[in-house]
Amino acid sequence: MPGGPDSELTVRQQIVQVLTGARCSARDLAHRLGIPERQVEEHLAHIVKSVAGAGEGQFYIEPASCQDCGFVFRGRTRLTRPSRCPKCRSEAILEPRFGIDL
Ligand SMILES: [Zn+2]
Repeated sequence: MPGGPDSELTVRQQIVQVLTGARCSARDLAHRLGIPERQVEEHLAHIVKSVAGAGEGQFYIEPASCQDCGFVFRGRTRLTRPSRCPKCRSEAILEPRFGIDL
């Protein structure tokens, strides 16, 4: 059965739609779109560039942080979650979150 208007959108367009005015982690997006987190990260890398290039809105990255000592991975532009805190060695890292502000 053919889907509604939403099925016409590419995965990348759907990610942009979900992120606009919102904050989501790669895991949230993967769950919502039904694709692997790894694929979400690949799409995000392209979306970061296209949003900046189009001059429509601003891609926002809330950095990952350590749940145990509060260390924030500032200046980190990678989209994937760091595996370990450099300060206390904890692996309880809060995922980075993304959004697009118009
Ligand atoms: Zn820590």
